[in-house]
Amino acid sequence: MTQPMDSRRLAYLKALEIDVWERRGRAPSAPVAAPAPAVPVEAQLGWAELERAVKTCTLCPLHQTRTQGVFGVGNRNAQWMVIGEAPGADEDRQGEPFVGRAGQLLNSMLKAIGLKREQVFIANILKSRPPNNRDPRPEEVRACLPYLFRQIELVNPQLILCVGRIAAQTLLETDTPIGKLRGQLHRIAGNRPMIVTYHPAYLLRSPGEKRKSWADLLLALRTLESLSGASM
Ligand code: URA
Repeated sequence: MTQPMDSRRLAYLKALEIDVWERRGRAPSAPVAAPAPAVPVEAQLGWAELERAVKTCTLCPLHQTRTQGVFGVGNRNAQWMVIGEAPGADEDRQGEPFVGRAGQLLNSMLKAIGLKREQVFIANILKSRPPNNRDPRPEEVRACLPYLFRQIELVNPQLILCVGRIAAQTLLETDTPIGKLRGQLHRIAGNRPMIVTYHPAYLLRSPGEKRKSWADLLLALRTLESLSGASM
């Protein structure tokens, strides 16, 4: 079935203000050519167009309730990319991921492994805030995920640090609890290494788990070291 992807492609083109000419009057049951390969439009975008597409995106209903699309922030050539769940109230207001209390803890976690916030690239699965910080819905994730995958491609990080259950289960396409996903090396998005750890908001509620998160950060450091050693 090509119809959903076609309408999705059209919506992306509209978001980019690209005029789309459609042939009129063809019976839907009489296709004249094989459908174009299902390469999402955003897979070809550069940084500027991608950011504009995110900020003007209307592909899911969250655009009606958000203040603004939260694109992502940081070094666009970073070694490390941090992926969280979705903007909260502070992020929605300021247009930047992880700026609230959880963001402050994330900054401290990064500092603990010798990284400044500005050195990494930080993004979320969803670019628009879900009302009342509810969990993302599958259709919202489906609409938004291509933006993240293009960001991953453009940054080309050596390591992805995935924070929280929702981001981890989404990227790994699994229902496995986060306690079982952390503490090991995963590969996503074209075999890129990813380490999962707890979400800083969860760590604020459960400080006893910070010890495990520290172990994850050390695993991430060791992984990066061994991978860069292997490629030398
Ligand atoms: N939690 C997230 O997962 N992302 C943010 O940007 C803020 C809080």
